[in-house]
Amino acid sequence: MKTEVKVLFAAQHIPGGLEAVFGPAGIPMDVAEVQDFTLQRKRQIRVNLTLDETDKRLSVLLDLLKTHGISWLERRYDCFTDEELESTRLLVMWYDVNAEVFAGPRVGTTYDVSEACNRCGAGARQTSAMIIDGEYLHRLEGRRAAATCYDDMLVDEKLAGTLAESGLIGISFRGVFAAFEKRGHIQLPWRQICATHTMPPLSPRSTGIERDELCSCGRSGFLGQAEVPLRLVYRASDLVDIRDVNVTWEWFGDFHFEGDVSDALFPSPLFLVTPKVWRIFRDAGVTGFDWIPIQVVDE
Ligand SMILES: [Zn+2]
Repeated sequence: MKTEVKVLFAAQHIPGGLEAVFGPAGIPMDVAEVQDFTLQRKRQIRVNLTLDETDKRLSVLLDLLKTHGISWLERRYDCFTDEELESTRLLVMWYDVNAEVFAGPRVGTTYDVSEACNRCGAGARQTSAMIIDGEYLHRLEGRRAAATCYDDMLVDEKLAGTLAESGLIGISFRGVFAAFEKRGHIQLPWRQICATHTMPPLSPRSTGIERDELCSCGRSGFLGQAEVPLRLVYRASDLVDIRDVNVTWEWFGDFHFEGDVSDALFPSPLFLVTPKVWRIFRDAGVTGFDWIPIQVVDE
């Protein structure tokens, strides 16, 4: 495993330009993605580069930015080899946020909220096929798998067939429909993968999760933290009942719920699968997902 750091900053106010910080840090210009453009008659230089966390040039660069009073955004994430993905118990399926399809309660998918938190909606149980917004249909084109904005996992019919025939435990499927304002609902050649098993709560040793706006139910209000890699930690005893597909007990993301499902913004759990599922996706040539192994502690 290695940890990479993606750094974003604006370079137009650095005296001497980007060379003045890249030069002393020993970073060749072609390592970064640089956008040089004019916005409201002012020159903008946006810089985006990725370095290994242990790369000495990273700390030199950040120190130089600090010296020049330049602020930056950074995101840290772990990268794994296939052998590491193969040898873990569970993997978080993490889909490209920019490729997600809008779906869920506000598009017509129905949920039973009788046992959900009445403040955030955590624990809402889906009771219909997954309805996605027809405006987002193009995001499924050329793909074999995708996710909704609520981390519902979608696969094409063929991949659903392969998953169904692979003897996976704890997996079920639902239909997927696109909703159009004038034409109503149209069934798509896609399936939603559903998990029957909910994991026990995470170990507090997990990182990359912000917990400061917790709902009173304790189950939602978790947010991702860009500067710290996401590492879900479970105790060995939490893994006794795992299936091939699982969801976290914790529900992540913003929420807005006042009792009306059709107007709700629900938080949502993360989707965790065994390496067996990862292999099926890999062999199908699926792209767009990051696979993050969980960590297991003895306690
Ligand atoms: Zn709640």
